[in-house]
Amino acid sequence: MKRILIAECAQEIASFNPVLSQLESFRLATPAELFSEHRPHRTEIAGALHHFDSRDDIELVAGFGARMITSGGPTSASAWKFISESFLDSIRAAQKVSKLDGLYFCLHGAMGAENQLDPEGYLLEETRKIVGEQVPIIASFDLHGVITDLVLKNCDLITLYHTYPHTDLYETGERSAKLLLKIMDGEAKPVTVRARIPALVRGDELKTKTGIFGQRVAEAVALENSAEGLSCGIFIGNPFTDLPELSSNVIISTNDDEKLAVETATKIASEFWRDRAKLQAFLTSVPDAVAQAIAAKNGTTILVDAADATSSGACGDSNVVLAELIKQGYSGTVLVPLTDPAAVAAAFKVGVGNTVTTHVGGALDPRYTPIEVTGKVQMLSDGEFNNEVEGEPWRAGNCAVLKVKNITLVLMSKPVNLHNRSLFFAHGLFPEKFDLVIVKSPHCQDHMYKSWATTYINVDAPGSTSANLPTLGHTICRRPIFPLDLDMEYVPEITVYRR
Ligand SMILES: [Zn+2]
Repeated sequence: MKRILIAECAQEIASFNPVLSQLESFRLATPAELFSEHRPHRTEIAGALHHFDSRDDIELVAGFGARMITSGGPTSASAWKFISESFLDSIRAAQKVSKLDGLYFCLHGAMGAENQLDPEGYLLEETRKIVGEQVPIIASFDLHGVITDLVLKNCDLITLYHTYPHTDLYETGERSAKLLLKIMDGEAKPVTVRARIPALVRGDELKTKTGIFGQRVAEAVALENSAEGLSCGIFIGNPFTDLPELSSNVIISTNDDEKLAVETATKIASEFWRDRAKLQAFLTSVPDAVAQAIAAKNGTTILVDAADATSSGACGDSNVVLAELIKQGYSGTVLVPLTDPAAVAAAFKVGVGNTVTTHVGGALDPRYTPIEVTGKVQMLSDGEFNNEVEGEPWRAGNCAVLKVKNITLVLMSKPVNLHNRSLFFAHGLFPEKFDLVIVKSPHCQDHMYKSWATTYINVDAPGSTSANLPTLGHTICRRPIFPLDLDMEYVPEITVYRR
């Protein structure tokens, strides 16, 4: 029997969110819990387990798991200490029982701790010290990962999502398992080429089904699916994760065909660079967006406030669009998600059916100014519900639905992902029943909002995950990088990795 260990450390941060992520931002799993945590859901590890289960010559060994419940500010030093030590201890413990023959790590790539700017690279480097240089290691990533030299040096192969919005977590896990077995069975000799692209990108063209980025990903996937290909894709990094190696990267791994890998990576990277100006978000000022919403007659208007996207790492406590709606006297029905633990507590204090006066917004991120509202408490909940796509549990802490005249506020105690409608559904709220919904996510799957909304506007509000990237204030990432720097020349930068 060959022993394969699976472990997880998946988080994405926004460096410009002032609130550090603590352990409570993660769903932690001991080795005894890891597999049962994942099996019922459409996660990477569930996909990997499904494939490994098809073989009877494999003994699966669970390691430690830390998976973000939602994104947030940089991971605190104490949380990172606990997670990194637990992760590495679980590998030491497994190796001590009997030598490991292969490892699969489910990572994200856009993690950053107060005291560690390459967490994934560190975990991989330390793992090598435990298992040695010969044991195959494969790791899967989100395409928003900030891929580093240390990661690529220590992995035999990496895999990444091919979809945005992400719908292939499970499939990425399955592919990882297949590829690890292929290496272990002696059928693959990976060579990986990284083509760095000094560009940060946002906007609608990133949607892989319809956008330019999808065309580039399709080129990579075509090679991945060919006889020569092993794993190919494009990292766009997370522009809000200000780390030394933040950039976009084409990653091409072939079965020992370095020339093909270099040619393909170079071609895709230069096409990506050519299109960099199109791969940006086109935003409307907050006053103009609200004016357009007032002018819109029928159906639902969606105001996308991606600057406060919790799934990208923001706090979810921006009230900027809300304040403008009030200022301009928007009279239609409005649905707004907002993180505000004090407002939730005030609602709990008076109870359902009663009126409360409280401040909302700016509870966590000082760039926002709290505004006072008086409304009726319609519903209180413990904020525990399942994500409508992958089905895994999400926890928003105590929540309150507060009706302030025409505005329905869904107040959370803790930021929870808002890239689908789970929070709304959990509170009996259906976006299509409102005249206007503030959506705090750059992109959701189209059927959730875009395909039926009559007006859909990407708003240029301030926030730690603003697509107006030059407003964020990067200080760590390597420069020059587009669009923070405009006057620059593209010099192809190719690195070859082989173990
Ligand atoms: Zn992502």
